[in-house]
Amino acid sequence: MKTLATDFGIDEALESLGIKAINEGTSTGSNNFSNGEIIESYSPVDGQLIGKVKTTTKEDYEQVMDAATSAFKTWRTMPAPQRGEIVRQFGDKLREKKEALGKLVSYEMGKSYQEGLGEVQEMIDICDFAVGLSRQLHGLTMHSERPGHRMYEQYHPLGVVGIISAFNFPVAVWSWNTALAWICGDVCVWKPSEKTPICGVACQNIAAEVFAENNLPEGISCLINGDYRVGEFMTKDTRIPLISATGSTRMGKIVAKEVAGRLGKSLLELGGNNAIIVTPDADIKMTVIGAVFGAVGTAGQRCTSTRRLIIHESVYDKVKNAVVDAYEQLRIGNPLDENNHVGPLIDTDAVKMYNQALEKVVEEGGHMVVEGAVLSGEDYESGCYVKPAIAEAKPDFKIVQHETFAPVLYLLKYSGDVENAIAIQNNVAQGLSSAIMTNNLREAERFLSHAGSDCGIANVNIGTSGAEIGGAFGGEKETGGGRESGSDAWKIYMRRQTNTINYTTELPLAQGIKFDL
Ligand code: NAD
Repeated sequence: MKTLATDFGIDEALESLGIKAINEGTSTGSNNFSNGEIIESYSPVDGQLIGKVKTTTKEDYEQVMDAATSAFKTWRTMPAPQRGEIVRQFGDKLREKKEALGKLVSYEMGKSYQEGLGEVQEMIDICDFAVGLSRQLHGLTMHSERPGHRMYEQYHPLGVVGIISAFNFPVAVWSWNTALAWICGDVCVWKPSEKTPICGVACQNIAAEVFAENNLPEGISCLINGDYRVGEFMTKDTRIPLISATGSTRMGKIVAKEVAGRLGKSLLELGGNNAIIVTPDADIKMTVIGAVFGAVGTAGQRCTSTRRLIIHESVYDKVKNAVVDAYEQLRIGNPLDENNHVGPLIDTDAVKMYNQALEKVVEEGGHMVVEGAVLSGEDYESGCYVKPAIAEAKPDFKIVQHETFAPVLYLLKYSGDVENAIAIQNNVAQGLSSAIMTNNLREAERFLSHAGSDCGIANVNIGTSGAEIGGAFGGEKETGGGRESGSDAWKIYMRRQTNTINYTTELPLAQGIKFDL
């Protein structure tokens, strides 16, 4: 029987990415070993088994850490621009494998093929960014208060960086971290989500090829596999100065406590509850495109997905009707088929959470304007396909305050000034992405001011989802406060040192202190 996998070239993609039927879950270069239990990865697209990955035991982990710490000694001695050259080659390899990796991302995670390709493009973009950055890891020079002294700051590599990532961006988040960490002179140990382990193996294979071609130890990039228990090997490990963790706020609170308990650093990229404010001056056509893509793209499983539309009462019905009309055009189905707009949720547990959210919003007094449903039939055999839903709700409903990782959009009405909409928007625990749709300069500037959006990302006339790698990415409050990717996000991957050099024959003390002997 022909499966979706054969119809859409998945077998060829897996072959070109070096994926075997059973993959070793732990990879550290010369060694490919693992002794843990097996994770089976099933596609949410058609419910077929994609492959099996062995998990990492504590003993395996110790070998990985040996390989990583030893690779660090080689890697940190290489000048940063030369490390940039390796990252450039990695970016080129990603260009060669873009279609194959994009297809695997789509098949294992369930996002559309276009979004899968977009995710690989983000990896390529961050490599380009990192290559340029490898010549700009600069510190400041400042004037010393003491005569004949020079004072400056420099940045040194940290060591082993631990990366824990979520299922919804199974490859890009890793590269956002690794591309920067690598040019900074760090080595990385990555634990991908246990829900998308094959994507992890594919990325490791690509990186391993580049390191091998340059006679560099593969320990610069290490992969470990398993669930939170394997993640805990890293969060408890004092040999890892920085843990970069992407996932739920629940996970982030545990990781933050564990890492802080040993005075390590953590970079946290956690849940969002993102809103678009629609003012009386909004361009309705742009609003509908931004809101619908934001709410249903990746089946509502982006950290930046639009979950709340805060609409002024004067345009409420108009916006509601236009969004509802757009939802009627949505085609739900196999995400590898470019005719479909919405693919499946990651698994049937996610379907349960979606159903619970729909029940709760009605229990709290909400009103469904587009009913949700779990789809069944030949095209939906995995049991993971759901219909994007819209509910009219109140801002303080418990379910509206909560991030449901599924395509459920809440319509909230505001009246009066834009301040009222901003207050509703900020009155949630999370602070990742936010947007305002308006052609009114005053409203836009108030939204961006110190008294405006409290989120890490604030957009005008753009939706909440999708970000460019050039800017620092991350959010405030329960989103964790971390910043990744562009701007000066690289600094977290390095340790800062202040150096003072005395080129005189005297030893003057700072603050004018005299110490005569
Ligand atoms: P999750 O929290 O269930 O898992 C994320 C990762 O953390 C997995 O690799 C998991 O094994 C690991 N983990 C869980 N508990 C751990 C522990 N105690 N110690 C160490 N590791 C642990 O999240 P998920 O369901 O994979 O992803 C969805 C969530 O991720 C959403 O909340 C989404 O908003 C968030 N997310 C945030 C960003 C961002 O940049 N802010 C990006 C992507 C996803």
